[in-house]
Amino acid sequence: MRTEANHRKDNVSKRLDSRQPDEARAQKRAFVVKVLAVLRRHSSSWNAPVVSLMAAQEKDPFLVLIGCILSLRTKDEITAQASRRLFARARNPRQMLALDVAEIEQLIYPVGFYRTKARTIRQICEELVERFAGRVPQTLDELMSLPGVGRKTANLVLSEAFDKAAICVDVHVHRISNRWGLVATRTPEQTEAALRNVLPRSYWAEYNGLLVAFGQTICRPISPWCSCCPIESLCPKYGVGSHR
Ligand code: SF4
Repeated sequence: MRTEANHRKDNVSKRLDSRQPDEARAQKRAFVVKVLAVLRRHSSSWNAPVVSLMAAQEKDPFLVLIGCILSLRTKDEITAQASRRLFARARNPRQMLALDVAEIEQLIYPVGFYRTKARTIRQICEELVERFAGRVPQTLDELMSLPGVGRKTANLVLSEAFDKAAICVDVHVHRISNRWGLVATRTPEQTEAALRNVLPRSYWAEYNGLLVAFGQTICRPISPWCSCCPIESLCPKYGVGSHR
C-alpha cells in the first residue's frame, strides 16, 4: 500500500525533474554548501559519531574498520567501551587472531549481535592476513570482499581512515538528504548515487560525520527539533510530518 510519505516523495521528484537538470543541480549544490557551512559552525556542540572520533584519535585503518563493525546497530557509548576493551588486547589482525571467538565475544559484549560480530572479526582478520599481507585494503571493491563489510562500512573506512573521497550513506544521511530535497530516493544505495551527482566532491568525506551528529541531536528520525534547528529557515522539510 502506498503511503502519504511516498506520494509526497513522488511529488518532490516530479518538481525536481521538471527543472532543467543543470539548474536544479546548481541550486542543490548552492543549498548544500550553505547548510553545511551552518552545520559545521554548530557541530562542536554535538557529539561526533564514535567512528569519526576513533579515526581522529587512532589514525589506524584496522582499528577504524573493526570499530565500524562494532558500531553497527549499537549505541556509540557501548561501541566506544567495547572498542577500548578489545583494542587493549589486539591492535592488528595477527594479534586479533591470537584471541579465540569466545574471548572476543567477552571483550565486545554487549554490542549488538556480539556473537556474530566476534566470528566476523576473526574471519576479517584471517582474510586480511591471507589476502592483503595483514593490511586493510584501500578500494571499495576489496573492502566489500571482506566478510561482513557492506557498502556503508567500506565507504566509512575509505573516508575516515584513508581520507578518500567516499560518501557513507547510513540512515541519518539517507533521511536528512531526502528531507532537504537534495535527493528523492527510497534506499541508501540510491541516495549515494544521487548524492555523487549533487554534492561537491570536497564535501563527500565530512558529509557523513556532520549529518550523523546532526541527525542524532536535532534532525531526529521521529519528530525532529525544527524549532531549534539552525537551518530551519532554509529547509523545505520534505516528508516531515510532526515536528517539535
Ligand atoms: S528544519 Fe527540521 S527537517 Fe529541516 S533539517 Fe532542521 S530539523 Fe531537519
